[in-house]
Amino acid sequence: MIWLALGLGLLALWLWRRSNQLRTSTGLPWRTVVYHDTAHRELTKALFSARYQLTGKPDYVLADGKALIPVEVKPQRQATSPRQGDILQLAAYCLLLEEATGIAPRYGLLRYAQHTFQVDWTDQLYQALLEALDAMRDDLELNDVERSHEQPWRCRACGFGDRCTDALEYD
Ligand code: SF4
Repeated sequence: MIWLALGLGLLALWLWRRSNQLRTSTGLPWRTVVYHDTAHRELTKALFSARYQLTGKPDYVLADGKALIPVEVKPQRQATSPRQGDILQLAAYCLLLEEATGIAPRYGLLRYAQHTFQVDWTDQLYQALLEALDAMRDDLELNDVERSHEQPWRCRACGFGDRCTDALEYD
């Protein structure tokens, strides 16, 4: 019996150390994970705001007292500062969580390959998000929208490359 208890104790110790290593490797703070989209604890459906006509699902949601913290993970992204598009995506999750819970997140987290960035959910970011959403909706009305080639690698991976007249050419 004592061997069984000893074995269980060692197993518990190994699991505890393993979970510590995994959590440290994510670069995320020590908070309760309310939800994550990387295994089997998925939200039953995406967050949706009728008021803003916006929908989306963050990769993780952490508990922050009564408020929640959305987390967006870009494991391939190598950058030392957060990209504007990623900030706006995280802002959209902040807005969706605020709409869903009635409590505004104080911030969201962007996790890149090497860095985790805290993005504060401010009035300025809220305004920037609304402006970006308006601009996107305006573009939806247009018949002809100029393509952006700010991220040329997207063309190589794009499923419309064989039909798109603006596709970049690669050797
Ligand atoms: S192939 Fe056309 S649609 Fe696709 S990324 Fe390139 S420009 Fe955009």
